[in-house]
Amino acid sequence: MRLSKYAFIGLLSCCCAMAHAQYDGIEEGYYEFPIQPDRINYLSGSMGELRASHFHAGLDIKTNGREGLDVYAAAEGYVSRISVSAGGYGNCIYIQHPNGTTTVYAHLQQFDEELAKYVLENQYQKENFRVNLFPERNRFKVNKGEVIGLSGNTGSSGGPHLHFEIRNARQEVLDPLRFKFSQIKDNIAPLPRRIALKTMDIDSRINGKFGRFEYVLQRRGNEYILPDTLTAFGNIGVEIWAHDKLNGAPNRNGIPIIKVNDGEELLFSQDIDTIRFSQQKNIRIHTNYKAERENGRRFNKLYIDDGNTLKFYEEAEYDGILKVSEDSKHPISIKLIDSYGNQRKVLFNVKGAAPSNKTNVRINPYDEPYVLDNTLMMFDKVSSHNSITMSLPTGDEKVQAAYSDGRTNVFLWDLKKALPSKVKYAEGEEVLGFTNLVPAASEHSFLSDSYSLKFGKSTLFDTVYIQSYHGVGKNGQELLEVNQDVIPLKGSIEAEMVPLLEYDSAESYHVYQVNNPNYPSFVGGEWEDGKIRFGFSSFGKFTLLRDDTAPTIKYRPVRENVISFTIKDDLSGIKSYEAEIDGEWLLMNYERKRNLIWSERLDKTKPLTGEFALKVSDQAGNEQIFKLKL
Ligand SMILES: [Zn+2]
Repeated sequence: MRLSKYAFIGLLSCCCAMAHAQYDGIEEGYYEFPIQPDRINYLSGSMGELRASHFHAGLDIKTNGREGLDVYAAAEGYVSRISVSAGGYGNCIYIQHPNGTTTVYAHLQQFDEELAKYVLENQYQKENFRVNLFPERNRFKVNKGEVIGLSGNTGSSGGPHLHFEIRNARQEVLDPLRFKFSQIKDNIAPLPRRIALKTMDIDSRINGKFGRFEYVLQRRGNEYILPDTLTAFGNIGVEIWAHDKLNGAPNRNGIPIIKVNDGEELLFSQDIDTIRFSQQKNIRIHTNYKAERENGRRFNKLYIDDGNTLKFYEEAEYDGILKVSEDSKHPISIKLIDSYGNQRKVLFNVKGAAPSNKTNVRINPYDEPYVLDNTLMMFDKVSSHNSITMSLPTGDEKVQAAYSDGRTNVFLWDLKKALPSKVKYAEGEEVLGFTNLVPAASEHSFLSDSYSLKFGKSTLFDTVYIQSYHGVGKNGQELLEVNQDVIPLKGSIEAEMVPLLEYDSAESYHVYQVNNPNYPSFVGGEWEDGKIRFGFSSFGKFTLLRDDTAPTIKYRPVRENVISFTIKDDLSGIKSYEAEIDGEWLLMNYERKRNLIWSERLDKTKPLTGEFALKVSDQAGNEQIFKLKL
């Protein structure tokens, strides 16, 4: 049986070179499925799946909306790490195996009895709910298939499930599906939705226009196509919006393997078979960050953008950029392959056409000048003189329309040449507010009268053109705006601001990011000599707000020797809490999603009596105290 199964997989692997009896040097069958191993399971997440801030590191295995299912050690070994936190992986177990790999089991409801006792003792010893423990080698040995805990929904989990990872000896995550667990079925090919084409520089065009354009794919038999040939010129980036579906579940998972061909020539190839944690931030340039912020769709770029350091692009000599010259023909095929080898093809044609100053495709002008990479795009109604004037540090410069549809003129300006402060149209003018060009991979400081920005060597993926403003917003509040949150940051920017408005007791004000004005997000900051210093890791708008309201504590009656509370804070958010009984530290477990904390004694037989005190602090330094004689 075993041999024939491998022989079959071997046949499949000729075309995708991934399904072998071994994966990353590990035998298939080494690991047992960690939950409900006697039945078919379903996934709500796959390894490598594109998430907002990272590539998903493992499988999210559904647990039928329930908690408390037995979780099994996938192979023999010993527990090498246990962590407990209100966010992230919640209650989590790491098992080290003799072959050098580690398996990870996250969002658990409970640890196995022996582990639970060890965790509780350590929480009391460290007087902290949050712990990250590394038991000595072989202290907690496990056999393959041994129960290690119960599945749950702890940490940053959006519903009951088991998050399961396999990491190799280099601590890179592997794709567990490539071990071909019989508990997961997938014979459904990936489902492409849209492709996008993007001009990669100022001279490139798509259907006569500059910019990024999305096209809805149409199904034709087993393939997805664009019925019309696209015309293009210059350097073009292709992107795809697609998902993989597995049998029996509606969830949209990731697609690990994508190959793009221009006729016979391989243009781009990715295979997300391992991910390094240190490279997770590259998700922001592996996907189109700007498009996602603007329209909510997460496209996989099929080209390797500047600053991208991911290693899973197989053919490093191809950057994926399609080079289109006049009259050239490009039959493009995109092959999407899931971890089980199911394949789907997307086909479309691109034809080279020299750029022209007329396009017969309607131009939809934006309300404001628009930056795409290094190019500034401006729009004006067609008029008698068809030019605009850029105000540059060196004086004014006239710019002719790049192209027109007869109603709207499009003007393009290469920001690498010079940063314009203003643009004058046929009627009226517009302040552009470019203050600075910041190259990637170098330290850079930018000073103005009332604020400064400091960029580190690893702050940026690529050159950024800063458009910043410090003033008073429409709502009468302080406003510091540094670009829009459409450019990804790799690291953080240090800012220093001298407020323009008067504040009594300035120290009680903190910086909040207000990209969404309805949800101010606490940034913090430290005051010194009338200035506030803070760091941020996404562009956008910042203001100063005062949180002088302490957190609320709602007492829930003692049940079964356990005291519990609902704790909430309205603006800055909960920072910490601490409970005591008769002056001794008392563990309170924290379920952040439900704003719930509840006590757990080291000695559970000891009755919960005495002087109880709870202190809850928010990030702005406000404290609420609750006392009770139990
Ligand atoms: Zn997960």
